[in-house]
Amino acid sequence: MIRYSLECPDEHVFEHWFDSIADADAQLAAHAITCPECGATTVRKSLMAPNIGASKPSAPALPSCASASCCAGSCPALAG
Ligand SMILES: [Zn+2]
Repeated sequence: MIRYSLECPDEHVFEHWFDSIADADAQLAAHAITCPECGATTVRKSLMAPNIGASKPSAPALPSCASASCCAGSCPALAG
């Protein structure tokens, strides 16, 4: 089972359980899922990320390569 957050054209977000990713895609493509609030059948997967506030997740920072001598000359940022 897999749970998706779905969103209708009126921005109602709700959750729905599917058997699999393929099942979710098939049901969404077939408009088999109905928004519980307005009845819309053109719902799509929501990009809602639970438990994430206003702060962005920080990507791993690459070392600054201002110097040509960084990484002993093998810095990937300077390879191109
Ligand atoms: Zn709706």
